[in-house]
Amino acid sequence: ASERVIVIGAVAAGTSAAAKAKRTNPDLDICVYGREAHVSYSACGLPYLISGAVADYQALIARTPAQFARDGVTVKTEHEVTDLDVAAGRVTVRNLATNTTFHDHFDRLVLATGARVNCPPVRGIELQGVFRLRSMHDGLAIQAYINEQQPKHAVVVGAGYIGLEMAEALLDLGISVTLINRSKTVLSSLDDDMSNQIIERLEAAGVHLALGAALEGLEGKADTVTHVVAGKVDYPAELVIIATGVQPNSELAASCGAELGEAGAIKIDQVGRTTVDRVFAAGDCCTVDHRILNKPVYMPLGTTANKQGRTLGAFLAGHERPFRGVVGTSVTKFADLHIAATGLSVEQALHHGYHVRSKIIHSTDHAGYYPNARPITVKLVANAADGTLLGGQIIGYDDVAKRVDVVAVALAGRMTVDEFAWQDLSYAPPFSSVWDPLLVAAQALA
Ligand code: FAD
Repeated sequence: ASERVIVIGAVAAGTSAAAKAKRTNPDLDICVYGREAHVSYSACGLPYLISGAVADYQALIARTPAQFARDGVTVKTEHEVTDLDVAAGRVTVRNLATNTTFHDHFDRLVLATGARVNCPPVRGIELQGVFRLRSMHDGLAIQAYINEQQPKHAVVVGAGYIGLEMAEALLDLGISVTLINRSKTVLSSLDDDMSNQIIERLEAAGVHLALGAALEGLEGKADTVTHVVAGKVDYPAELVIIATGVQPNSELAASCGAELGEAGAIKIDQVGRTTVDRVFAAGDCCTVDHRILNKPVYMPLGTTANKQGRTLGAFLAGHERPFRGVVGTSVTKFADLHIAATGLSVEQALHHGYHVRSKIIHSTDHAGYYPNARPITVKLVANAADGTLLGGQIIGYDDVAKRVDVVAVALAGRMTVDEFAWQDLSYAPPFSSVWDPLLVAAQALA
């Protein structure tokens, strides 16, 4: 009989692993169990579904179970794996639609169980109108609630990238938004001297900010939320989005003795092996190697989940192509402001014991005389000991994402600031200044 691979979790990492493994070795017998009704979708697109920028949720679905079946991969929706017995090669599965339980067997097992919202344990969190945004189900539920209840006031708790994206989405729908954050800044991937610009833009867009305010509780009437209490202040809200970060779904891994790392995420090697024989993992339930820090970290992102899934799929099919890890790159936007970061901020670098130098420069995204030049701010961070680049942060209105990618590649190549300052970056007036803003920043820092 052919070797049977069972995959638990059917969004990004699980479906990437399954599809890649089957394509590479068609003899594998692969079954994916996902507890949701939807599989293989882009959770990253959910804020834009809610705002209306994406008209149809089906546009976010990469592949349906029927499409997987045509490629020879079985995908079972609304099936939750409740128990593992690795020695016996057995999983216990509950069919959530029929409420029946059965066993299935595997030769090798993939945990792609993802993450869940780290919900603060405050009173009123279960009131109607209070949502987390993680799954397609969550996104559709928020959309339906907005359509039915027509909320006028929303509170978004948490000013990470999902909090910012949801603040924008709700403003676009004409809903007034209060953004509450425990720390005094927004987007912790950036240093305060950069994130201040985002705060200004949020305020200019009409977002009410409650920074440095801890969430105390939610109050309601007849089971439905009416306001949020934070920092001893009441904020009216018929809709609340909890965007306070995520934690890995690593309970099944722990139950079979797999070693866990930072934040309780499953420790894996560069192809996706856990510390338990025959058990593999990928995606938001796992750690990832940080190429600057040289250690595994918990940095759950879709781009990484796809890479880990694909690497693991190839490995299960007999091709060992290690994924070397991340440097910590992320990008988001609020309204017209694009915000990107890679590597370490000054704050993070100091936290990890580096002596750092840094520089912020203000420039325009292309030649000032060519129409529509917009401001761009670049911050570069370097290791004071040896001059290597440690990180970059960019805020602007155009092409910020792709500029940060240049820094990300330089970080992976362990480039010094001196070397970086002379790179052959493209120039013509519509695209850049003769000195690209990245080079200006590096020259200033060198
Ligand atoms: P998940 O997407 O969490 O999927 C895991 C699946 O496994 C879930 O369906 C879960 O229910 C299921 N599962 C868990 N346990 C079991 C079990 N026992 N049995 C059966 N099924 C189980 N990333 C980016 O890189 N860029 C972005 O712009 C970006 N934007 C985002 C915006 C939003 C609103 C959200 C929510 C996420 C965003 N992300 C983004 C993150 C990205 O969506 C995740 O990194 C990605 O979905 C991780 O995929 P995964 O398959 O590892 O985990």
